[in-house]
Amino acid sequence: MVKICCIGAGYVGGPTMAVIALKCPSVEVAVVDISVARITAWNSDVLPIYEPGLDEVVKQRRGKNLFFSTDVEKHVSEADIIFVSVNTPTKTRGLGAGKAADLTYWESAARMIADVSKSDKIVVEKSTVPVKTAEAIERILTHNSKGIKYQILSNPEFLAEGTAIEDLFNPDRVLIGGRETTEGQEAIKALKAVYAHWVPEERIICTNLWSAELSKLAANAFLAQRISSVNAMSALCEATGADVSQVSHAVGKDTRIGPKFLNASVGFGGSCFQKDILNLVYICECNGLTEVANYWKQVIKVNDYQKNRFVNRIVSSMFNTVSGKKIAVLGFAFKKDTGDTRETPAIDVCNGLLGDNARLNIYDPEVTEDQIKRDLSMKKFDWDHPFHLQPMSPTSTKQVNVVWDAYEAAKDAHGLCIITEWDEFKKLDYKKIFDSMQKPAFVFDGRNIVNAEKLREIGFIVYSIGKPLDP
Ligand code: NAD
Repeated sequence: MVKICCIGAGYVGGPTMAVIALKCPSVEVAVVDISVARITAWNSDVLPIYEPGLDEVVKQRRGKNLFFSTDVEKHVSEADIIFVSVNTPTKTRGLGAGKAADLTYWESAARMIADVSKSDKIVVEKSTVPVKTAEAIERILTHNSKGIKYQILSNPEFLAEGTAIEDLFNPDRVLIGGRETTEGQEAIKALKAVYAHWVPEERIICTNLWSAELSKLAANAFLAQRISSVNAMSALCEATGADVSQVSHAVGKDTRIGPKFLNASVGFGGSCFQKDILNLVYICECNGLTEVANYWKQVIKVNDYQKNRFVNRIVSSMFNTVSGKKIAVLGFAFKKDTGDTRETPAIDVCNGLLGDNARLNIYDPEVTEDQIKRDLSMKKFDWDHPFHLQPMSPTSTKQVNVVWDAYEAAKDAHGLCIITEWDEFKKLDYKKIFDSMQKPAFVFDGRNIVNAEKLREIGFIVYSIGKPLDP
């Protein structure tokens, strides 16, 4: 029986391994983590992450061929294939601060693998890492090898939070990069055999190590760039009277462009897009490619601009001040169908409003009060000036009220802003909401999910991103 161990039981490690266990009943899968809380949750009825379909998959295989454990060393030493799916955040201090990936967790995992291994291993990079990381890992492993042979593969993960299980069941592609040596190709074959249980052969792409590592950064950069492109257009639409939905529809009909990922919004968030682009920028700069670095930097700058524009629009619409005004914030997660708030635009929007002394009633179906208050009190990292951390945000938790539904959030509010595109926000009784709000009642739709015309008929003043303004 092939034994797989995954180091890191997070948003990627947990769902990915659960699906491997489901699709490969003959493979034993152990997911290990240094976080006792996370592993306890994976072994309980309330999983540590919210992801549609995940509960069913875990329940089907847990205790059979899927195990969650804090006994990292035991499972690593027994495994044939070790996935490393630890976090690789942006460095916050030292060389490359604000841009480079922090590989501390990766390095400690690699050193631990070298320490405890007693047989040959295939080590798979699942985390998103800078190109050439495999070389560094190889060095750590071979210099501490005690005669054990390691093959390093790059197998970046392309799942999107909110649709992780669907994406894992039916991936557009599985990418495996390895050395071009006989041993490297054998290792690729072994990993391919795992995915071949359910992924059609033509969707498994094999490349060299560096192409696989770079492809993940490139894919995220292209996706984020698309969002910044349409958001940049949305600003121009507002200035000219064009409608960004009509423009996106017309542009997306070109088969070379395609219709997906062309929705204007308050901006992208999540733990990956910004981090991976910053990492790409850093790699370009290290290779002397300043113009290329500047090109990718602009994707993040437009995203910051879009979030600022949204806050400014709220404040200017509400007679140039939100001081003392109550604003209902619907959604805090960085996208629907996840409870993940890492780099969510909600943080910048809320902090912007709090900066002008607004009072916020925040509601999100999957985000807890603790999470929201923690996120709003964190220091914001300024990547242009990494050595000058900005002061604590002006958030006074007294100005923030986390509530249990959208109606409660809207009660007595002067304005309502939608940050996350949860389906339930499309189906609210907006007449009831209107009646409970201060007048004039404003709606700022950061995801363009409400029917602005209908809301205007009710009496709301509505701002939608990239659309003609309220007459
Ligand atoms: P995460 O923070 O949710 O999970 C990482 C886990 O690794 C944590 O639980 C942490 O405790 C654990 N860990 C860290 N060091 C460890 C060690 N030495 N031993 C054991 N456990 C250790 O992160 P994530 O969102 O799952 O992302 C993991 C990687 O996958 C990152 O590189 C990320 O960029 C990449 N990725 C993420 C997504 C996504 O949507 N979240 C998608 C594709 C790729």
